[in-house]
Amino acid sequence: MANSFDLTGKTAIVTGANTGLGQAIAVALAEAGAKVALVGRSSMAETEAMIADVGGQGLPISADLATLDPIERIMDETVSWAGDADILINNAGIIRRADALEFTETDWDAVMDLNLKSVFFLSQAFARRLVAAGKGGKIVNIASLLSFQGGIRIPSYTASKSGLAGLTRLLACEWAARGINVNAIAPGYFSTNNTDALRADPDRNAAILARIPAGHWGQPKEIGGAAVFLSSEASDYVHGTVLPVDGGWLAR
Ligand code: NAD
Repeated sequence: MANSFDLTGKTAIVTGANTGLGQAIAVALAEAGAKVALVGRSSMAETEAMIADVGGQGLPISADLATLDPIERIMDETVSWAGDADILINNAGIIRRADALEFTETDWDAVMDLNLKSVFFLSQAFARRLVAAGKGGKIVNIASLLSFQGGIRIPSYTASKSGLAGLTRLLACEWAARGINVNAIAPGYFSTNNTDALRADPDRNAAILARIPAGHWGQPKEIGGAAVFLSSEASDYVHGTVLPVDGGWLAR
């Protein structure tokens, strides 16, 4: 039986692929057979080495997604390297922490620009090329538990990730009939730079761990399977969903 999770012959673009969840997703897609364009503002050397170790191919593309400037270049560099782009993983994201009473416009704009605005316009550039070529593709947005919950001290992050869930559904509704699947993954509490501050705070760390049915912080490798699923033929009839990968947090 053909393996419907196989990504051989596909090309993926992963933003924020140098570390954390983006790195783990890039390696998982490469293991499943995809060529992977590694987009971000930091060195991709570690991710390139991990991809080479699994026998895959990666192309680093230097881009700061705080603005829309690099978007067309990301598409151009990917297509001139691989001939095509079939999968887009919108993973790059930042978080800024402060009480809502003190939160600044700078911290609002920085988070919304990267986590939401750049995601929309990169998805638009990616989808325009698919539509022009008359072919389908896959978009996977990395959302959050804060797509479902309020949280505390992260107003722009919660707004961006809740907005991203809505955007995922809107794009799915517009593009499903064109063969473009738009879905999201909502990671729970994973051990990455994004959550350093929480793990460093003994009270928050203990409270978070006590609520996770699986009993441990997610390890980046544990996100890979969901990303491969939503990037592959196995999910061809899945549109507009936000899939929690959270050790059971939301079930609690
Ligand atoms: P991380 O901080 O390790 O990774 C963030 C990535 O975004 C890095 O690769 C970074 O270089 C990139 N990035 C930041 N600013 C950028 C910019 N201006 N241009 C291009 N790239 C930029 O954290 P992570 O946990 O791996 O986060 C990845 C995604 O997962 C984020 O969208 C985050 O919100 C989401 N997420 C993480 C968790 C968690 O528990 N770690 C939970 C829910 C959602």
